[in-house]
Amino acid sequence: MGGTGTSDTIAVRVWRGERHGGFQSFAVPRLANQTVLDVLRFIQRRLDPGLAFRHACRVGVCGSCAVRVNGIARWACRTHLDRVVRDDALELAPLDHLPAVRDLVCDLAPFFDQWTAAGGYFVPRPDADGFAAIAPESPARRAVEAGIECIGCGICYSECDTVGDRPEYLGPAALNRAWTLQNDTRDGARAARLHAVSGDAGCHACHSRFACSERCPKGLSPAASIAALKRQGVAALLGGTR
Ligand code: SF4
Repeated sequence: MGGTGTSDTIAVRVWRGERHGGFQSFAVPRLANQTVLDVLRFIQRRLDPGLAFRHACRVGVCGSCAVRVNGIARWACRTHLDRVVRDDALELAPLDHLPAVRDLVCDLAPFFDQWTAAGGYFVPRPDADGFAAIAPESPARRAVEAGIECIGCGICYSECDTVGDRPEYLGPAALNRAWTLQNDTRDGARAARLHAVSGDAGCHACHSRFACSERCPKGLSPAASIAALKRQGVAALLGGTR
Protein backbone atom coordinates (compact mmCIF):
# COMPACT_ATOMS: atom_id res chain seq x y z
CA MET A 1 0.00 0.00 0.00
CA GLY A 2 1.10 3.56 -0.59
CA GLY A 3 1.90 5.91 2.27
CA THR A 4 -1.11 8.23 1.84
CA GLY A 5 -2.20 9.55 5.21
CA THR A 6 0.44 7.66 7.14
CA SER A 7 2.74 10.62 7.76
CA ASP A 8 3.05 14.37 7.26
CA THR A 9 6.46 13.93 5.67
CA ILE A 10 8.26 11.44 3.53
CA ALA A 11 11.93 10.55 3.69
CA VAL A 12 13.40 11.07 0.24
CA ARG A 13 16.79 9.67 -0.66
CA VAL A 14 18.19 11.43 -3.74
CA TRP A 15 21.30 10.46 -5.66
CA ARG A 16 23.89 13.24 -5.55
CA GLY A 17 27.18 13.45 -7.34
CA GLU A 18 28.83 13.34 -10.70
CA ARG A 19 30.82 10.28 -11.77
CA HIS A 20 30.78 9.13 -8.17
CA GLY A 21 28.35 9.97 -5.41
CA GLY A 22 25.86 8.71 -2.89
CA PHE A 23 22.34 9.21 -1.61
CA GLN A 24 21.37 12.29 0.38
CA SER A 25 18.26 12.30 2.56
CA PHE A 26 15.60 15.03 2.68
CA ALA A 27 12.38 15.30 4.67
CA VAL A 28 9.63 16.50 2.32
CA PRO A 29 6.07 17.45 3.36
CA ARG A 30 3.47 15.01 2.07
CA LEU A 31 0.66 16.66 0.06
CA ALA A 32 -2.43 15.48 -1.76
CA ASN A 33 -1.97 14.58 -5.43
CA GLN A 34 1.80 15.03 -5.11
CA THR A 35 4.03 13.82 -7.93
CA VAL A 36 7.68 12.83 -7.94
CA LEU A 37 8.39 16.04 -9.85
CA ASP A 38 6.65 18.03 -7.10
CA VAL A 39 9.03 16.43 -4.61
CA LEU A 40 12.09 17.31 -6.68
CA ARG A 41 10.94 20.89 -7.17
CA PHE A 42 10.30 21.26 -3.43
CA ILE A 43 13.80 20.04 -2.60
CA GLN A 44 15.38 22.36 -5.16
CA ARG A 45 13.35 25.42 -4.12
CA ARG A 46 13.27 24.98 -0.36
CA LEU A 47 16.06 22.66 0.74
CA ASP A 48 18.93 22.56 -1.75
CA PRO A 49 19.01 24.81 -4.85
CA GLY A 50 22.02 22.87 -6.10
CA LEU A 51 20.01 19.74 -6.88
CA ALA A 52 20.23 18.96 -10.61
CA PHE A 53 17.40 17.28 -12.51
CA ARG A 54 15.67 17.82 -15.85
CA HIS A 55 12.08 18.75 -16.57
CA ALA A 56 10.26 20.97 -19.01
CA CYS A 57 6.61 20.41 -19.95
CA ARG A 58 5.37 18.89 -16.64
CA VAL A 59 2.54 17.10 -18.49
CA GLY A 60 4.08 13.97 -20.00
CA VAL A 61 4.94 15.36 -23.40
CA CYS A 62 8.64 16.25 -23.42
CA GLY A 63 10.05 13.07 -21.86
CA SER A 64 12.82 14.95 -20.06
CA CYS A 65 12.00 14.19 -16.40
CA ALA A 66 12.57 10.41 -16.36
CA VAL A 67 14.34 9.11 -13.24
CA ARG A 68 14.46 5.84 -11.34
CA VAL A 69 11.90 5.81 -8.56
CA ASN A 70 12.52 3.10 -5.98
CA GLY A 71 14.60 1.29 -8.61
CA ILE A 72 12.19 1.54 -11.55
CA ALA A 73 12.46 4.11 -14.35
CA ARG A 74 9.39 6.38 -14.51
CA TRP A 75 8.41 9.86 -15.69
CA ALA A 76 8.57 12.12 -12.63
CA CYS A 77 5.84 14.53 -13.74
CA ARG A 78 3.06 11.95 -13.95
CA THR A 79 4.09 9.56 -11.23
CA HIS A 80 1.94 10.16 -8.16
CA LEU A 81 3.45 9.33 -4.82
CA ASP A 82 0.45 7.19 -3.89
CA ARG A 83 1.65 4.66 -6.49
CA VAL A 84 5.29 4.50 -5.47
CA VAL A 85 5.90 5.53 -1.84
CA ARG A 86 6.62 2.63 0.48
CA ASP A 87 6.70 3.08 4.26
CA ASP A 88 6.78 6.86 3.80
CA ALA A 89 10.07 6.60 1.91
CA LEU A 90 11.17 7.29 -1.64
CA GLU A 91 14.47 6.76 -3.44
CA LEU A 92 15.30 8.74 -6.59
CA ALA A 93 18.25 7.98 -8.87
CA PRO A 94 19.29 8.78 -12.45
CA LEU A 95 18.38 6.50 -15.36
CA ASP A 96 20.49 3.39 -15.77
CA HIS A 97 22.90 2.62 -18.64
CA LEU A 98 23.73 6.25 -19.37
CA PRO A 99 26.75 8.30 -18.24
CA ALA A 100 26.17 10.46 -15.18
CA VAL A 101 26.40 14.22 -15.56
CA ARG A 102 25.28 15.40 -12.13
CA ASP A 103 22.73 14.24 -9.54
CA LEU A 104 19.69 12.99 -11.52
CA VAL A 105 20.93 14.27 -14.88
CA CYS A 106 22.52 11.80 -17.25
CA ASP A 107 24.02 12.21 -20.70
CA LEU A 108 21.46 11.11 -23.29
CA ALA A 109 23.91 11.29 -26.21
CA PRO A 110 24.51 7.50 -26.34
CA PHE A 111 20.73 6.93 -26.36
CA PHE A 112 20.16 9.24 -29.33
CA ASP A 113 23.34 8.08 -31.09
CA GLN A 114 21.64 4.68 -31.30
CA TRP A 115 18.65 6.25 -33.06
CA THR A 116 21.05 7.49 -35.73
CA ALA A 117 22.77 4.09 -35.95
CA ALA A 118 19.37 2.41 -36.40
CA GLY A 119 18.46 4.75 -39.25
CA GLY A 120 15.84 6.32 -37.03
CA TYR A 121 15.29 9.35 -39.25
CA PHE A 122 13.02 9.94 -42.21
CA VAL A 123 14.59 9.76 -45.69
CA PRO A 124 12.21 11.00 -48.41
CA ARG A 125 11.75 8.74 -51.38
CA PRO A 126 13.51 10.25 -54.40
CA ASP A 127 10.41 9.67 -56.53
CA ALA A 128 8.10 11.33 -53.99
CA ASP A 129 5.92 13.87 -55.69
CA GLY A 130 3.50 16.02 -53.74
CA PHE A 131 1.47 14.79 -50.79
CA ALA A 132 1.27 11.05 -50.10
CA ALA A 133 -2.23 9.67 -49.71
CA ILE A 134 -2.09 7.10 -46.87
CA ALA A 135 -5.32 5.35 -45.94
CA PRO A 136 -5.91 5.57 -42.16
CA GLU A 137 -7.02 1.95 -42.01
CA SER A 138 -4.05 0.53 -43.95
CA PRO A 139 -1.83 -1.94 -42.02
CA ALA A 140 1.24 0.22 -42.60
CA ARG A 141 -0.47 3.31 -41.21
CA ARG A 142 -1.67 1.35 -38.18
CA ALA A 143 1.84 0.04 -37.57
CA VAL A 144 3.21 3.58 -37.67
CA GLU A 145 0.56 4.87 -35.30
CA ALA A 146 1.24 2.06 -32.82
CA GLY A 147 4.77 3.33 -32.21
CA ILE A 148 4.86 6.97 -33.25
CA GLU A 149 4.06 8.56 -29.88
CA CYS A 150 7.52 7.90 -28.44
CA ILE A 151 8.68 10.94 -26.44
CA GLY A 152 12.32 9.86 -26.21
CA CYS A 153 12.26 9.63 -22.42
CA GLY A 154 14.85 6.82 -22.21
CA ILE A 155 12.82 4.77 -19.73
CA CYS A 156 12.85 1.66 -21.92
CA TYR A 157 16.59 2.06 -22.44
CA SER A 158 17.16 2.24 -18.69
CA GLU A 159 14.98 -0.82 -18.06
CA CYS A 160 16.53 -3.00 -20.79
CA ASP A 161 18.82 -5.79 -19.57
CA THR A 162 20.38 -6.19 -23.00
CA VAL A 163 21.43 -2.53 -23.08
CA GLY A 164 23.07 -3.11 -19.69
CA ASP A 165 24.91 -6.20 -20.88
CA ARG A 166 25.80 -4.88 -24.34
CA PRO A 167 26.15 -1.09 -24.60
CA GLU A 168 26.44 -1.39 -28.39
CA TYR A 169 22.87 -2.75 -28.58
CA LEU A 170 20.67 -0.26 -30.45
CA GLY A 171 18.01 -0.46 -27.76
CA PRO A 172 14.21 -0.55 -27.70
CA ALA A 173 13.44 3.09 -28.51
CA ALA A 174 15.73 3.30 -31.55
CA LEU A 175 14.39 0.00 -32.88
CA ASN A 176 10.81 1.09 -32.27
CA ARG A 177 11.51 4.25 -34.24
CA ALA A 178 13.11 2.21 -37.02
CA TRP A 179 9.98 0.05 -37.25
CA THR A 180 7.67 3.05 -37.61
CA LEU A 181 9.85 4.28 -40.47
CA GLN A 182 9.88 0.84 -42.13
CA ASN A 183 6.11 1.25 -42.35
CA ASP A 184 6.19 4.81 -43.66
CA THR A 185 5.40 4.46 -47.35
CA ARG A 186 6.96 7.87 -48.03
CA ASP A 187 10.38 6.70 -46.75
CA GLY A 188 13.11 5.79 -49.22
CA ALA A 189 15.70 4.12 -46.96
CA ARG A 190 13.96 0.95 -45.87
CA ALA A 191 16.51 -1.50 -47.28
CA ALA A 192 19.42 0.38 -45.70
CA ARG A 193 17.58 0.69 -42.39
CA LEU A 194 16.71 -3.00 -42.32
CA HIS A 195 20.38 -3.76 -42.84
CA ALA A 196 21.30 -1.37 -40.00
CA VAL A 197 18.93 -2.98 -37.50
CA SER A 198 19.69 -6.58 -38.49
CA GLY A 199 23.33 -6.57 -37.38
CA ASP A 200 24.82 -8.12 -34.29
CA ALA A 201 23.77 -5.17 -32.09
CA GLY A 202 20.33 -4.87 -33.64
CA CYS A 203 16.91 -6.45 -33.21
CA HIS A 204 18.18 -10.03 -33.00
CA ALA A 205 20.04 -9.21 -29.77
CA CYS A 206 16.69 -8.63 -28.02
CA HIS A 207 15.75 -11.38 -25.57
CA SER A 208 12.05 -10.49 -25.59
CA ARG A 209 11.92 -9.84 -21.86
CA PHE A 210 9.30 -7.12 -22.51
CA ALA A 211 10.53 -4.75 -19.76
CA CYS A 212 10.48 -1.95 -22.35
CA SER A 213 6.82 -2.54 -23.15
CA GLU A 214 5.87 -2.94 -19.49
CA ARG A 215 7.54 0.33 -18.48
CA CYS A 216 6.90 2.63 -21.45
CA PRO A 217 4.85 5.51 -20.00
CA LYS A 218 3.18 6.11 -23.35
CA GLY A 219 1.90 2.55 -23.54
CA LEU A 220 3.98 1.68 -26.59
CA SER A 221 5.41 -1.76 -27.19
CA PRO A 222 8.99 -1.52 -28.41
CA ALA A 223 9.22 -5.30 -27.94
CA ALA A 224 6.48 -5.80 -30.53
CA SER A 225 8.27 -3.44 -32.92
CA ILE A 226 11.51 -5.37 -32.42
CA ALA A 227 9.74 -8.67 -33.08
CA ALA A 228 8.28 -7.21 -36.27
CA LEU A 229 11.73 -6.07 -37.39
CA LYS A 230 13.03 -9.60 -36.81
CA ARG A 231 10.24 -10.98 -39.01
CA GLN A 232 10.89 -8.39 -41.69
CA GLY A 233 14.59 -9.24 -41.69
CA VAL A 234 13.89 -12.94 -42.07
CA ALA A 235 11.39 -12.25 -44.85
CA ALA A 236 13.98 -10.16 -46.68
CA LEU A 237 16.53 -12.97 -46.36
CA LEU A 238 14.01 -15.42 -47.79
CA GLY A 239 13.29 -13.09 -50.69
CA GLY A 240 10.22 -11.40 -49.23
CA THR A 241 8.65 -8.32 -50.65
CA ARG A 242 10.26 -5.65 -48.45
FE1 SF4 B 1 10.08 6.41 -23.60
FE2 SF4 B 1 8.35 4.54 -24.54
FE3 SF4 B 1 9.82 6.05 -26.25
FE4 SF4 B 1 11.01 4.15 -24.78
S1 SF4 B 1 9.46 3.81 -26.38
S2 SF4 B 1 11.78 6.26 -25.12
S3 SF4 B 1 9.83 4.28 -22.86
S4 SF4 B 1 8.22 6.79 -24.82
